[in-house]
Amino acid sequence: PAHLYGQRRNSSGLDLASESVLAALWQDLRASAAREWRADPMIPSLCVIRPPQDVRNPTDRRDLVGLVSPTLERDIPLAFANARRAAQGWRETPPAQRAAMLERAADLLEEQMGILMGLIIREAGKSAANAVAEIREAVDFLRYYADQARTTLNDTHAPIGPVVCISPWNFPLAIFVGQIAAALAAGNVVLAKPSEETPLIAAQAVQILHQAGVPVGVLQLLTGAGEIGAALVAHPDVAGVLFTGSTPVAKLIQRELARHEGPPIPLVAETGGLNAMIVDSSALAEQVTGDVLSSAFDSAGQRCSALRILCLQEDIAERQLTMLKGALGELRIGNPDRLSTDIGPVITEEAREAIAAHIGRLRASGCPVWQAPLGEETDHGSFIAPTIIEIDNIAQIGGEVFGPVLHILRYAREDLDTVVEAINGTGYGLTFGLHTRLDETIAEVTEGVAAGNIYVNRNTIGAVVGVQPFGGRGLSGTGPKAGGPLYLGRLVRTMPLLDLT
Ligand code: GLU
Repeated sequence: PAHLYGQRRNSSGLDLASESVLAALWQDLRASAAREWRADPMIPSLCVIRPPQDVRNPTDRRDLVGLVSPTLERDIPLAFANARRAAQGWRETPPAQRAAMLERAADLLEEQMGILMGLIIREAGKSAANAVAEIREAVDFLRYYADQARTTLNDTHAPIGPVVCISPWNFPLAIFVGQIAAALAAGNVVLAKPSEETPLIAAQAVQILHQAGVPVGVLQLLTGAGEIGAALVAHPDVAGVLFTGSTPVAKLIQRELARHEGPPIPLVAETGGLNAMIVDSSALAEQVTGDVLSSAFDSAGQRCSALRILCLQEDIAERQLTMLKGALGELRIGNPDRLSTDIGPVITEEAREAIAAHIGRLRASGCPVWQAPLGEETDHGSFIAPTIIEIDNIAQIGGEVFGPVLHILRYAREDLDTVVEAINGTGYGLTFGLHTRLDETIAEVTEGVAAGNIYVNRNTIGAVVGVQPFGGRGLSGTGPKAGGPLYLGRLVRTMPLLDLT
């Protein structure tokens, strides 16, 4: 019944079966590539714009995607002064009105789908399919938090104050917009610092939110690298931080926030994972092959939800590995601007070197390694061949490796409990996958694994806003889950009611 499942609808994809949609998409992608993209700090009254730096395409570094002008640390007091001035008007804007602006921004994002896809593909190295998913997720976050604000907030809720949003490059639009949408929906003014790798799409998103009616002092964009994030977090006016990124940086932020005079400052951190999947001998091998490939290698493994450790019951391990290696050899690696490409680049040369060093270390320690052949046009970009490495125990991995590397661990049927223990023993708890046709195993394992998002007989990526609220436990983050009903609650204070009883 509708009242149980709710009326809210998620965005729909592009109908690529329609020739007119496809033609319009190609035209937009071409127009997008011809545009000179630019990101400047959006801080009202900031007079000086610094000399811009290049933003280059990770697929081919010769391709200049656009220019970004950095924020300087000395601009930050002005940004907080702007935020202070804008705060009252925004707090007094009714939740329904704030929600309407977010929904307008969602519509604008959908209208500019093709142009923005082109930018995401070139700035972040995403495939066309991932670029569509990225925009849809941003749209879903906007509509979801708008809906939450409208239906759950009233005049007993007050904003917590200026919220600093610090977001990663791997979902340069979806996570960037998701954090901002939640903070704005709850009535907070926002200082948003996107990843230094992907400022161009972030600047487009902020412009769209302004166009949709969000005042320029209510949402400011601060371009720049880690030191700008650090300076934002250190400012005395910060009242809350939304952060997605690595576990060590989350802890650094927490330490910095603890140094402030005054009350403790809330931090919502979505961090890394060492995500595992268990496949037993009752699983359907063909289905496992597809689900493992997408879980481990989609987005070149650059999702915090990505599969890192595949645990195969030893009876079926050899057969499953043969199928996986065969499929790995078929993947097309190259320029993600073609629909035929499966896997694009990793984000930077430094990332490529770190992943290559990890593979080299395990190879040198005697672990068997298989790699897919690299495609033709990978010479000018940061590409890593999708890699499968057999290990004997999880400790050999050493920590989260953010790229297309899948570790394989064989286990004996009677050791299933030990495997679950070892998975929990990593301390992370983000996603987990299980392939089995045994009901008892589903019950036992899903009960035993300490993970935020558990997927049975499917892949482990692509959580859908409002349907699969996303977030982990332990080293993987603080919660509440993004795209879930508890998120806005962390961003408001509940005012005392006058009790007359
Ligand atoms: N929500 C994304 C997914 O389910 C992952 C988010 C991330 O990598 O930070 O694939």
